[in-house]
Amino acid sequence: MQTRIFKLTTENDSGSAIAECAKIIKNGGLVAFPTETVYGLGGDATDEDAAKKIYAAKGRPSDNPLIIHIASPEDAEKYAHTSELYYKLAKAFMPGPLTVILKKKDIVPDSVTGGLSTVAVRCPSDETARELIRLSGTAIAAPSANRSGSPSPTCAEHVISDLDGRIDAILCGGVCEIGLESTIVEAREDSLILLRPGAITADALRCVCDNVEISHAVTEMLAENERPLSPGMKYRHYAPSVPLVLVEGDEDLVQTFLINAQNSEKCALLCYHEELDELRGERLIDIGARDDLGTQANRLFSALRDADKLDCDIIYAHLPKKDGLGLALYNRLIRAAAHTVIHVDHKNINHHKS
Ligand code: AMP
Ligand code: MG
Repeated sequence: MQTRIFKLTTENDSGSAIAECAKIIKNGGLVAFPTETVYGLGGDATDEDAAKKIYAAKGRPSDNPLIIHIASPEDAEKYAHTSELYYKLAKAFMPGPLTVILKKKDIVPDSVTGGLSTVAVRCPSDETARELIRLSGTAIAAPSANRSGSPSPTCAEHVISDLDGRIDAILCGGVCEIGLESTIVEAREDSLILLRPGAITADALRCVCDNVEISHAVTEMLAENERPLSPGMKYRHYAPSVPLVLVEGDEDLVQTFLINAQNSEKCALLCYHEELDELRGERLIDIGARDDLGTQANRLFSALRDADKLDCDIIYAHLPKKDGLGLALYNRLIRAAAHTVIHVDHKNINHHKS
């Protein structure tokens, strides 16, 4: 399949590019498009076949449901049973990086929800994304626009490298503002279950709803045969071709550990900006300043893609703290590392992979 590439530059008429892509969606085709979180791979959310094409293009298991994207929060009415709590969330966080799980209506085919009776709904803040949804005249079902198993795409180049030749079109905008996928919550009667952390933090949600529970699958490994509330939690988020190991401990000790690692192993390091001077430049990726979680979120998926291209035997990264946006970083990294963490102390400071 020949994938049409539409560039959203000021020289081009971006309006007509978006209109052209909306036509593709209306005709049952697939278009990758930018959002403020990551790029999405979109198809008509009411078209069973479009959903099947999405799973096929991504190589995604069909029991891992898709998020449907709407142009304004009230449009959820057409696809799902809303509630007072939904509208409280909408008032506080929509349009924006929040996905809410609601009881679905029949218009949403089972292929979109992986057979579940609920549907995930999001109204993105990105103007291009919302214009595409408006012009398509339907909700757009869109998972992240990567091949299953690779990190979510945060720029058009990532999408092209994963999906060129597999989908109808790619709408190329810039780098995604946030760089991590949306926060997902399940809205119960008067409580919220946080299923996937993102830029809307647990504390921000608590400003709207007193009762916010963080699903244990956000930070912990699932028990064997456990059925998670969000099917996507059971899949390995991203498996680099070499092991990814997370390190934590006293700042000085961790730094010595990383210096020792560079001297004894062929390793790639995702390091903090402040560490650049102390570490050798080889296979070193600057993830942002230690306290600048926004930049770290923005760079994480690119950094993982870059690290995977380096000739190395192991990748080390810092284990993030679980506060605020840190919880989203923690959740993505711990899954990419298959929960492998080294707690650095005086005894193991020299113990690298043997
Ligand atoms: P992605 O589209 O790649 O951002 O992944 C979508 C995530 O939303 C997956 O982890 C899904 O498991 C989750 N999801 C979508 N629909 C539902 C639903 N109805 N109930 C629970 N989780 C959902
Ligand atoms: Mg994804």
